[in-house]
Amino acid sequence: MSATHEVFNQAPPLTGFSTADDPALLEALHREGGAWGEAEVRALGARAGSQEVQDWARMAEAVPPVLRTHDRYGHRVDEVEFHPAWHRLMAAAVESGQHAAPWAEARPGAHLVRAAKFYVWAQAEPGHGCPVSMTYAAVPALRAQPDLAAVYEPLLASRTYDYGLRPPLGKRGLIAGMSMTEKQGGSDVRANTTTAVPAGDGSYVITGHKWFTSAPMSDVFLVLAQTREGLTCFLMPRVLPDGTRNAMRLQRLKDKLGNRSNASAEIEYEQAVAWPVGEPGRGVRTIVEMVNMTRLDCVVGSAAGMRAGLRQALHHAAHRRAFGAELVDQPLMRNVLADLAVESEAATVLAMRLAAALDRSEAGDAGEAALRRLALAAGKYWVCKRGSAHAAEALECLGGNGYVEESGMPRLYREAPLLSIWEGSGNVAALDVLRALEREPAALDAYFTEVGLAAGADRRLDAATGRLRELLGTLRDPARAQLTARRVAEQLTLVLQGSLLVRHSTPAVADAFCASRLGGDWGNAFGTLPPGTDLGPVLDRALLKDAR
Ligand SMILES: Cc1cc2nc3c(=O)[nH]c(=O)nc-3n(C[C@H](O)[C@H](O)[C@H](O)COP(=O)(O)OP(=O)(O)OC[C@H]3O[C@@H](n4cnc5c(N)ncnc54)[C@H](O)[C@@H]3O)c2cc1C
Repeated sequence: MSATHEVFNQAPPLTGFSTADDPALLEALHREGGAWGEAEVRALGARAGSQEVQDWARMAEAVPPVLRTHDRYGHRVDEVEFHPAWHRLMAAAVESGQHAAPWAEARPGAHLVRAAKFYVWAQAEPGHGCPVSMTYAAVPALRAQPDLAAVYEPLLASRTYDYGLRPPLGKRGLIAGMSMTEKQGGSDVRANTTTAVPAGDGSYVITGHKWFTSAPMSDVFLVLAQTREGLTCFLMPRVLPDGTRNAMRLQRLKDKLGNRSNASAEIEYEQAVAWPVGEPGRGVRTIVEMVNMTRLDCVVGSAAGMRAGLRQALHHAAHRRAFGAELVDQPLMRNVLADLAVESEAATVLAMRLAAALDRSEAGDAGEAALRRLALAAGKYWVCKRGSAHAAEALECLGGNGYVEESGMPRLYREAPLLSIWEGSGNVAALDVLRALEREPAALDAYFTEVGLAAGADRRLDAATGRLRELLGTLRDPARAQLTARRVAEQLTLVLQGSLLVRHSTPAVADAFCASRLGGDWGNAFGTLPPGTDLGPVLDRALLKDAR
């Protein structure tokens, strides 16, 4: 009670929950072969929702990383200082194996369980997910160079977060970054001008720059540079084996819209030392192995962001009254919340299906590899694109409180577009869909085999599948193909999401999705599920009223 008024009708703090209390996630874990990981996912989810970890997340962003180019005596040091909360988040992520567990313990469902962990943990703080994801993604690319992989992989897969600039091979665990983007070309990496010249001892000397390199305090980086043979992938350590700093000069840190806990640097290489990974001249092919992994994490991260926003929106609406009723009981708010829940579940079910496809393709299943090729490109486009709209609407559910930093919603909102930009911005992802369709016919066959598992279960899904086939037919006209690419990527994702929900979710969620996203009975904003949609069961599932 204050002197002037009593504070009431404000939602209590949302803390002490578990991000793993998520029916769609847990069902996917069981269905797709990851039940063995449930206890660990639940433990991590409970930690993510704890007050302690929420405080780490807040501090890691409120006190962003700072670049120190020189020491007090004028020597270059090129170091970035982080708030201790950043390191706590990193240590917890590494301890839980999000950065590499499937590479150390290859067992069925390992990538799925790892994706589930990334999903529940990213809901606490997304920024540090960047180096965690890059470390995970570096391993398959590094395997193109078995002698390097033999030495570095065990350290990348170690569950010890051993921070600090020391020679990598003397550390107990390593973090990896990725340096592709240059000033004159990001999506178009073949435009890279950084050069690499053989030093005569197996190493190369790299000269040039990178315009974006996130997590610049990482121990090793996969770097693209031009050799005589063409664009080549290299492994570049921050500290050389003799303990001296490699000549990676950090010019400045980006002042970013979001992702503020993480540092993203502009770097110049003044004859930095690196070792080639994979065949010289085949750098794109090598690093694509890494990019495919981080693209999966963009989808998983977008799904995580949606789930985090939805939880906040539901919590607020359940505790706030307006115009005589709880917001969660106001019909129009129920439509908004249910629509957000449907979008969130569609993203989660697809993200987990993609992770399972990765598991199976790693185990040699060609059909799953083909499905993953197309569905990941399409999902990267559509799910990541939906993330921003979802975050904006979830934020609005909190009214003015959602616009205030303390709510955590601005952090979610700022983070969302990043997942759409990096590792293939919207157009680049959509064009990648066209490339997959053109060059890998097996991918489309695998896609329709998967979607066909739900054939006959919902007339709107069947009709949308038919329309999709017609749309794909128009791609034969090269003049139209690019103009239609986004529409194709969107429809491929929606039909796949619809088929997964029809097969695996509750009838109410599947019906709401099919009626709105596939049946066309939907407006241009969230909260426009058609009248007649059974909102109650959708909201009950989101509010965990029917949780296992
Ligand atoms: C916070 C942050 C961190 C990052 N961290 C890293 C990192 O660690 N390492 C790294 O290498 N990079 C990093 N990046 C860079 C990121 O991957 C690139 O910004 C992204 O790939 C886009 O490249 P670009 O910025 O050069 O834009 P461009 O390639 O110039 O693209 C600009 C726009 O044009 C579109 N476009 C491109 N080609 C076509 C086409 N053929 N047809 C139609 N449209 C097209 C794109 O979709 C985009 O919308 C980071 C970026 C951000 C924002």
